[in-house]
Amino acid sequence: MDPAGMSSAQRRAALVSVGRAEARLAGWKAHLINAEREQCGEKMVEQVLRNELQSSRREASRDVKTSTQLAELPTASAALETGLIPAGHARLIARAASDGPIDEALLTEAAQRQNYDQFTKTVRRNQQDMSEDDGQSILARQQENRTARTFLSRETGKFLMSGEYDPITGARIDTVLASKERELWNAEDPKKRRTPQQRMADALAELILEPEKGKAKGTALMVIAEYDVINQELVNARLADGTPIPTAELIRLACDADLLPGVFRAATQEMNLGRKRRTASDAQRAALVYRDEECIGCGASANRSFAHHVRFWRNGGPTDMPNLVLVCNKCHHNIHDDGWEVHHDSAENRFKVEPPPDPFPETGVDTYRPPQRNPVLLS
Ligand SMILES: [Zn+2]
Repeated sequence: MDPAGMSSAQRRAALVSVGRAEARLAGWKAHLINAEREQCGEKMVEQVLRNELQSSRREASRDVKTSTQLAELPTASAALETGLIPAGHARLIARAASDGPIDEALLTEAAQRQNYDQFTKTVRRNQQDMSEDDGQSILARQQENRTARTFLSRETGKFLMSGEYDPITGARIDTVLASKERELWNAEDPKKRRTPQQRMADALAELILEPEKGKAKGTALMVIAEYDVINQELVNARLADGTPIPTAELIRLACDADLLPGVFRAATQEMNLGRKRRTASDAQRAALVYRDEECIGCGASANRSFAHHVRFWRNGGPTDMPNLVLVCNKCHHNIHDDGWEVHHDSAENRFKVEPPPDPFPETGVDTYRPPQRNPVLLS
């Protein structure tokens, strides 16, 4: 059927079917690869994938590895084969299972309703919960496997840098980088802004080339934990983006660095500044990072997001926690200029940014026109 002749609802339903079919095909592919591997061996089946499916060396090796891991995971495999979970989710489960113990049933269930980004977090959280040493060995392995390289690309003639770090070192690097980006942003001519990519590239170069300029302000690492009053201990320690960290590591960090204990109580005056000030306080920002973890629109890191008034300040919105959300620059733009709206999803207890209502939901009009800019919002 010609997609242009379908209504929007029909196209969306067809997309759902395509997604299901992709998952079932991936399940079938894993089955075939496994049977072939058992008979001919790993090397041979990789060769078959490269010859017959024109896969790259990397894809072939990844497919064989995932299939091998899925063979040990009956619940996840069955869900993949019936199209209940997407192939990417199944691959995440398989990879996690090869790293250590996981709760397969719990992850398979979560994979049916969470999007990929949410699901990566659920997997990490589950690995931490299931590990016998509170994730200490996971972190140790990540530290061990650190790697970085620089090279001149033959294809583009440009210089490339890449590095892999454990999440704590990574969060430290990112905090410094993000504050350098903010410093550059503040010094820019608002009419001639760099792109975010250019800004990050410049910040990175400046940090390496001009270390004497020093770190920008606001480079404290944010670590979050809850206090279990009954057992009198810190639990659920994590980085701002929700990455779980071992409690022992939290204590080590606390001895190492300045620690800002944040005690958030929703009803306190500090959390609700009313119309007294427009910008969020440090305490409110910390509480926002705690609640939202990241940009509520696109998942950009909290380091690159800031407080936005749901009911706009100029429309009388207060600087109170229930009226503040964490958004990145781009999503902020979508809200102010293109009519995207902040909603609270009570089922998940999260704020979300959603596109303006579809003006032609059932008419099958093939071009999507954003609604007229709202003059009230622009005033
Ligand atoms: Zn965003």
